[in-house]
Amino acid sequence: PPAVSATEVSKVYGSGDAAVHALRGVTVGFASGAFTAIMGPSGSGKSTLMHCLAGLDTVGGGRVTLGDVEITGMSDRRLTLLRRDRVGFVFQAFNLLPTLTAEQNILLPLQLAGRSPDRAWFDRVVEVVGLRDRLGHRPSELSGGQQQRVACARALVARPEVIFADEPTGNLDSASGAEVLGFLRTSVREMGQTIVMVTHDPAAASYADRVVFLRDGTIVTELYRPTPDTVL
Ligand code: ADP
Ligand code: ADP
Repeated sequence: PPAVSATEVSKVYGSGDAAVHALRGVTVGFASGAFTAIMGPSGSGKSTLMHCLAGLDTVGGGRVTLGDVEITGMSDRRLTLLRRDRVGFVFQAFNLLPTLTAEQNILLPLQLAGRSPDRAWFDRVVEVVGLRDRLGHRPSELSGGQQQRVACARALVARPEVIFADEPTGNLDSASGAEVLGFLRTSVREMGQTIVMVTHDPAAASYADRVVFLRDGTIVTELYRPTPDTVL
């Protein structure tokens, strides 16, 4: 089964003349261990779809399944626990805590979940993301690219079933963005991570195995990369 899937998902904001149909019956599955990009023009429903898939927003109609759990209609409390235990997030704005070091930021989700870190896994994530000599630095002492790599390590350290990345390179220059995307791809290739990334940047999408295009709340086309290392 897919790591996460949407079946006939619709979402309307507002009502009457002011109603905005953000999603119009979207059916899509995201395979486990795949890196998928969701692209489309501004207002096409990318963020809404990601928020519905991640249980951050409720659907108007249809169903969302995360792993083997249907999250449609779940209480906020159960959704919060499910996100905490099974989902990782990377946002455009890094969202690191400024008073904590890189290491403390990376370990925070585990701490909040009351889980003890798997040291070998932590070391591997830190190594792959290239942060070994930055662990004691606070966010203000790191470049944007380094901060986003800390955020990626934080998303990965709890070994979530899926990582949702919302415009992860939106605040980065292209070199830093490439570092972050390279890390995300490595986490998919070598660690079996599942990633769903929203982006409007074709260069960012070219790191994905598959690109899903949205327009006006509908999936209009899909592309698959034929082999893992062919660039689109
Ligand atoms: P994208 O991420 O592709 O830019 P969004 O999912 O943010 O698209 O938005 C899809 C449509 O829904 C847009 O027309 C947007 O203005 C509208 N929309 C999104 N969130 C809200 C909201 N909270 N209230 C009202 N309209 C919204
Ligand atoms: P982005 O597309 O850059 O991710 P959005 O424009 O989708 O950002 O919006 C960011 C936040 O604002 C989201 O939480 C979304 O739900 C909300 N939002 C978007 N459009 C509207 C709108 N027309 N009215 C109210 N809230 C909105």
